[in-house]
Amino acid sequence: MSVRVRFAPSPTGLLHVGALRTVLFDYLFARNKGGQLILRIEDTDRTRYNPESEQEFVDTLRWVGIQFDEGPHVGGPHAPYRQSERAAEGIYAKWIAELEAKGHAYKAFETSQELEEMREFQQINKQPLGYFGGDWRDASPEKVEAAIAEGKPYVIRQKMPRDKKIVVQDLIRGRIEFDSNTLPDPVLIKADGMPTYHFAAMVDDHLMGITHVLRGEEWISTSPYHWTLFEMFGWQPPIFVHCPVIVGKDGKKLSKRHGATRVLDYMAQGYMKGALKNFIALIGWAPGDDREVYEDEQELIQAFSIERLQPSPGQFDMEKLRWLNGHRIRLMSPEEILAEIEGLLAEAHTVQYWENFVDEPMPNQKPIDGKEVLGKVQFLVKRAHEDRDYVLKAIKEERERVGSLVDFGDACEFFIVADDSLNYDPKATAKWFTGQAHVPALFDFLTACCENGTFGADTPAEEYENAIKDYFASSGLDKLGPIVHPTRVALTGKTVGPGLFELMAVLGPERIKNRVARARTMLS
Ligand code: GLU
Repeated sequence: MSVRVRFAPSPTGLLHVGALRTVLFDYLFARNKGGQLILRIEDTDRTRYNPESEQEFVDTLRWVGIQFDEGPHVGGPHAPYRQSERAAEGIYAKWIAELEAKGHAYKAFETSQELEEMREFQQINKQPLGYFGGDWRDASPEKVEAAIAEGKPYVIRQKMPRDKKIVVQDLIRGRIEFDSNTLPDPVLIKADGMPTYHFAAMVDDHLMGITHVLRGEEWISTSPYHWTLFEMFGWQPPIFVHCPVIVGKDGKKLSKRHGATRVLDYMAQGYMKGALKNFIALIGWAPGDDREVYEDEQELIQAFSIERLQPSPGQFDMEKLRWLNGHRIRLMSPEEILAEIEGLLAEAHTVQYWENFVDEPMPNQKPIDGKEVLGKVQFLVKRAHEDRDYVLKAIKEERERVGSLVDFGDACEFFIVADDSLNYDPKATAKWFTGQAHVPALFDFLTACCENGTFGADTPAEEYENAIKDYFASSGLDKLGPIVHPTRVALTGKTVGPGLFELMAVLGPERIKNRVARARTMLS
């Protein structure tokens, strides 16, 4: 039987990292097995329904590049794929009638006040909380008929078996046992006639021929209801695969404290979809060797197996994501990087994210100004329109040092700003321009090189190196630092950056001359 898996989000909010992990495992598994991946929108809870949420799912899944074989946007043999539309077609009504006829479901007419009183009574008497039958589980047909005739609102509940051990088979965890006497009778059809998640999801999993249900560990507690529903209908249950919880580096459940939880925010921060998928796949799945880098998605698909999913929590380590992303960036050509940056800025969410960014810096750290970050990347792209070759050279130098696409904005800034607007770090100038008696002569030398053709438009980095090292040899200084550092500060405004000779070759004589002239005015 061919593998059929579904991603079944409820459109109530944003698409978070945990859900991305589920759909990614679905996707890798389906592709590995030559099976099908289905998108089903579980929108029967109309009180929590959020119309923007479905769009968020679509945008996120498009960005990460996960395609579905069936779903509301591609169609398929089991359409419709939105549960509200399936409810309107009467699909769930048919199956609940069958369950009632079999005696596995019943109408319950308690008012919300009666349910509240039941709860208080249970609390006072230290009884298990929940609905274990009330007045209606064993009510006579006449009593039920009378309540219907009176027009009393009702829900339909699942008649959970009593005095029974319910055993759910989970692919990762094996047998999971539940005492049926601890399981209240859940609502399957709400008073408004809509099915609950429990009912709609399981009916659909059966009707859509789902073979494996991959979902987060938080659904384990509902699995005995689901398993029992399959038994009640006499259907073959799917294989349940409850994926381990995702925790931060501190071992606590992943939350905002550990970094963004919304998937699109990672895009906005300049993480590429390939790196993010590589990273997310390794949270809770162990390939069985030490391999961590999957540059090619096909290799990830080939390596993936659900047998190697781990029961223990998977750790979300931002440093690793940064590293994987940086590694990918270094495998790309400057043209490819620039195209990625341009694509990133074309995403509406990138602009919104940075414009509304509110940093929560660590103590003693300067908060990040989102508008400034965005402005620098936009400036890079603007300059690329004016002088693409030059910007590509700058990107090539900075490629070695960044962890995200957005980092290029700040990293390349000194290359692309006008010479008279280069920012000088006051700490750098204080250290290398103040009281350094040899620096004026060094600046004279650099200026002369620009004027006499030693530094020409096409002079390669090695020749800059030779010229500066020759100058050093004749300077009488005993270390190269006092030459290299003031030169770097004069040209870049800071003490860190790419190799000095390489960046000089990119800047070229015109910029070097202008910047040295400006730096000279700062000497004291
Ligand atoms: N609609 C559920 C959710 O929002 C799906 C749970 C499941 O996969 O069974 O996560």
